[in-house]
Amino acid sequence: MKDILIKNCDIVHADGVQAGMDILVHGGVVEKTGKRITGGASRVIDGEGLYAFPGFCDLHSHLRDPGLTHKEDIVTGTKSAAAGGFTTVCCMPNTNPPVDSVETVRYILDKADAAGFARVLPVAAITKGLKGGVLTDFAALARAGAIAFSDDGMPVQDDDVILAAMRLAKKENALLMLHEEDLKNRGSGVANAGQYAEQAGLSGIPNAIEDSMTARDLYYAQKTGARIHLCHVSTEGSVELVRRAKKNGVHVTCETMPHYFSLTDECVVGGDPNTKVNPPLRSARDRDAVIAGIVDGTIDAIATDHAPHSESEKNTSFADAPFGLIGFETAFSLLVTNLYRTGRIELRDIARLLAAAPCSILGIAGGRIGENERADITLCDMEKKYTYQKNDVVSKAKNSPFFGSELLGAVMVTIAGGKVTYDR
Ligand SMILES: [Zn+2]
Repeated sequence: MKDILIKNCDIVHADGVQAGMDILVHGGVVEKTGKRITGGASRVIDGEGLYAFPGFCDLHSHLRDPGLTHKEDIVTGTKSAAAGGFTTVCCMPNTNPPVDSVETVRYILDKADAAGFARVLPVAAITKGLKGGVLTDFAALARAGAIAFSDDGMPVQDDDVILAAMRLAKKENALLMLHEEDLKNRGSGVANAGQYAEQAGLSGIPNAIEDSMTARDLYYAQKTGARIHLCHVSTEGSVELVRRAKKNGVHVTCETMPHYFSLTDECVVGGDPNTKVNPPLRSARDRDAVIAGIVDGTIDAIATDHAPHSESEKNTSFADAPFGLIGFETAFSLLVTNLYRTGRIELRDIARLLAAAPCSILGIAGGRIGENERADITLCDMEKKYTYQKNDVVSKAKNSPFFGSELLGAVMVTIAGGKVTYDR
């Protein structure tokens, strides 16, 4: 008896769609794909009307474990990821303690393994304690299972330190994931600088806070030959800088998040702390540049920056609330609602942006459905409409600005490593 047989679905690859296919899963891998596969399976899933995408891979999330588990933990976070169709998630190192030791990398891997909802790939810190001074031991951390290196929200400010990090990354063939923000000049900014922040009486964060650091790091990446991945690109300027750098042969990839193509800074006028995110929601012009970057391939991948906070932490003024929103469970629907339905992207682009590109950036197996590949499969209904509600949220945290939104496209079943991890 085989494990799972999916009948009559359309398989979506980054390079096209195969209609009317069956998928046979056994022992954690795809044993066979084809028309009308016969023989029994413990579980038969009727795939009629559904699209099978390669399991989604999130390059950027916060699972808050160890140390901040009142917000989220590895079990609730990966359950939420599975509900969003994700079979692989990278988690950022700003936990307590931060992920700067082999022990913490192992803790995350072991706990995720025991939970079994998704493959979790810890991103380790670039500097000890995320303090921006002393580099961590890239080689030892990578051996323990760290997939990449980032100081994320505490980005390295010192030029000598980032240059040393890039030289070490080049030597170790490690990937640096860089959150581009000039902390010194951000000051007390909480929302995108412009008319809406002014209207709401909030201090502004100009685009230059992101763009100046993007330019700096692209320059050092060119100089050193290091492989860098820019986190959550949100501005017109950064999209253009990456576009040019790619033309010039810099080893750079980048991601954006659904909120940067779905929302603009106009939202902050309402004062909802769930619209407070870093980088901030930008102008309509930036949003359009981000969409253009997704369409022309400058932006390689869609990640979530799933950033859970407890209700009591977010239940304060916009200025005082922490940055961040939850993102696993709405990423696919926002992509379908705002970019697929409007004809900006095609089915195969969804497979590329959410699965094939992230896996290739990380240099890991996954990102396609094929014989002997890991059985990571996300079955979706492209026609399903629903109103996203707080009661639906699987994550421990509820900080989403999208409650009440009418969304199109839903994840129906997630299979990770041959196991059903979510069934709507
Ligand atoms: Zn970040």
